[in-house]
Amino acid sequence: MELKILKIGGSVFACKESNKPKVDFNVLRRLSREIANAYKNNFNLILVHGAGSYGHPIVKRTGINKGIKRKSQLVAFAETQRLQNELNSIFTRELIKLNVPAIPCQASAFTLMDKGKIKEMYIKVIKGFLKLNLVPTLYGVPAYDEKQGCSILSGDDIVPFLAKKLKVKQIIHGTDVDGVFTSDPKKDPNAKLIKKITPSEFKSIISGISGSTKIDVTGGMKRKIEELVKLTEFGIQSIIVNATKPKRIEKALLGEKVIGTIICK
Ligand code: ADP
Repeated sequence: MELKILKIGGSVFACKESNKPKVDFNVLRRLSREIANAYKNNFNLILVHGAGSYGHPIVKRTGINKGIKRKSQLVAFAETQRLQNELNSIFTRELIKLNVPAIPCQASAFTLMDKGKIKEMYIKVIKGFLKLNLVPTLYGVPAYDEKQGCSILSGDDIVPFLAKKLKVKQIIHGTDVDGVFTSDPKKDPNAKLIKKITPSEFKSIISGISGSTKIDVTGGMKRKIEELVKLTEFGIQSIIVNATKPKRIEKALLGEKVIGTIICK
């Protein structure tokens, strides 16, 4: 069975512009229905979601992404992890209600970081879950880092790592804009949607891509695209779609034509 990875950015359902943890339940429930509808078709699925208001503000405030330097950061480390578990529990609860076997997977419990990079991840459990036809549901988390005590294992780190290890062919990335534009569409009304990006074209468009307009500690759109472009070397194709607009995620999961940006070789 084909394996797809669906990443849902925190900006989509976890109110990234809010300073306090907040979920947009209308969006989350609609998205969950779309995932449930598409999942009836025969493919294996890994879901990865971002943290939005549950992660970025507390990490920015306490600096735990840069390592543990003060004792007071330990409570922040623990609380950040707890908040991510809470958000994941909210997301998976909606999916489970719709009969999707979305099994919560706390990646920091089986991943070792080294200066902000994944050093080791024990993926046998993920493979096992997939064999059973579960939908492993991972999310951005603060993780143990050998060099600095703590760093952020973001959804955007997890996606390329698993895609390569598990020989994924397709990644669907849901965000809060229609795809990749010539410049940030939230700031520039003349920004134009780029329908397709190949590694050779990437160099000429990279200057127009910035991070995130919201509080972001993991690199935003620019880092995402850089990683997805690298994956094309491994035969992995990605599509960036607007998950805040109805049916886009469902269509993308089903392989139907949808507005967005395709990243391929
Ligand atoms: P997510 O939470 O979905 O992972 P991010 O906040 O990290 O998303 O990145 C999405 C944001 O990236 C958009 O809301 C947009 O403001 C910003 N962005 C910056 N440059 C671009 C660009 N060239 N094309 C599209 N989005 C861009």
